[in-house]
Amino acid sequence: MIIVMKADTQPDSPELAQVIQMAEGYPGVSTQIHRIEGATRSVTEIYLLGSTGVVPIEPFEEFTSVERVVRVTEKFRSIGRHGVGLEAHGFDYNGVHFSQDNLHVFPGVCAVDEPHNVEAMFAALKEHGVVTSRAGAYKPRTSPYDFQGNGADCLPFVFELAGKYGIKVVAMEITHESHIDEIQAALASSGQATGVLVQIGTRNAQNFELLKVVGQQTELPVLFKRGMGITLEESLNACEYVASGGNRRIIFALRGMKTNLGDPHRNFVDFAHVPVVKRLSRLPVCIDPSHSVGSRAMSPEGLLDIFNVTAQGVIAGANMVLVDFHPNPEQALCDGPQALLMDELPRYLEDVRIVRAAYEERVAKIATPPTQGG
Ligand code: PEP
Ligand code: MN
Repeated sequence: MIIVMKADTQPDSPELAQVIQMAEGYPGVSTQIHRIEGATRSVTEIYLLGSTGVVPIEPFEEFTSVERVVRVTEKFRSIGRHGVGLEAHGFDYNGVHFSQDNLHVFPGVCAVDEPHNVEAMFAALKEHGVVTSRAGAYKPRTSPYDFQGNGADCLPFVFELAGKYGIKVVAMEITHESHIDEIQAALASSGQATGVLVQIGTRNAQNFELLKVVGQQTELPVLFKRGMGITLEESLNACEYVASGGNRRIIFALRGMKTNLGDPHRNFVDFAHVPVVKRLSRLPVCIDPSHSVGSRAMSPEGLLDIFNVTAQGVIAGANMVLVDFHPNPEQALCDGPQALLMDELPRYLEDVRIVRAAYEERVAKIATPPTQGG
């Protein structure tokens, strides 16, 4: 059961304490408090855990400080909307707000190689006012003989350069729980020069022990990538492992599905699922056009397929775009052939801006106004 408090209820208010006291008065019931940072308002939610089946809704609805009481459905307990339009889980991290209502582009290198390439990347982002990027240090590769990433060794220069160029959040995949400690230690040594969005790659989408570990730490938010060969429901359940551990600062990423029916793209592009994930879950939704398309193929009118599928995700309301760029793709140690080039960055960002504006116009002029919730 979830009790949604009215928006003006402060976390330390007597009204909140009263409701918690009543909830914990029921045998076998404990509570957890969550703060939801929305675009226009922030709300406090009280989660009732344990034997809640016999707890009635009505006494809680009588509090003037309570907005509504929601019985949690079995499906997607922590991340789901429970059919009643619970608000999305917006959150702030290192000065950047993530929610189902806004959009951030994370252009960056697939894998960290030489410091000068990382520096050229971050410098270009600064020039264009972008404060979010990607940089892979730990790479899960299909072949053990392929480059596995520069690991912990590259973290000091990546974080220092991020700080130098004002990058606030770097998305970085981890493949083992020890990588969280390595990242946190390097962030501390850098004087918290930047922040890290911990990425769980598609190959680890059902690595439940890893998901539990990233869920049990709450310092770093999580970018969860949909499993490439499992159902959407299974991927959302995998996210529940993170959320149920205590970390609800999760972004759900679509990155294409593995099937030869998607040829000639590397994966079958699944960005029609952006609004589906926004409807089923409270999580901001990311798209990864680079790992979906996997090449620099171009349409006859001169738009790269990566631009076209980005537009498909953004016009459907995506909240984050993770996209591979490289200053010198011929030097890239991973995924060079799909990387966009530095001189394509301004046009890419302009394209995203055009399409996001079209999405916002669609919502303003075409959408049916919501009847409840946010
Ligand atoms: C990546 O983003 O570098 C990556 C390996 O992606 P995925 O897990 O989606 O294949
Ligand atoms: Mn890659």
